[in-house]
Amino acid sequence: MLSCKEANRLMSQELDRKLSWGENLGLKFHVSLCDSCANARQQMSFVRSACKHIFALDEKSDQ
Ligand SMILES: [Zn+2]
Repeated sequence: MLSCKEANRLMSQELDRKLSWGENLGLKFHVSLCDSCANARQQMSFVRSACKHIFALDEKSDQ
């Protein structure tokens, strides 16, 4: 089982790259058992999609 710290790291990485099968499984498993990470994940993808929307014309300045 991943720690919350590892889960958070994967959550931010999954927005930038495709996670490996094992990473994805570990993250899904953790999130299904950990409410705080489930919430964090939701917020992260919300914030990310909001940012993408705002910067839709300038996606290359991602970093
Ligand atoms: Zn957690």
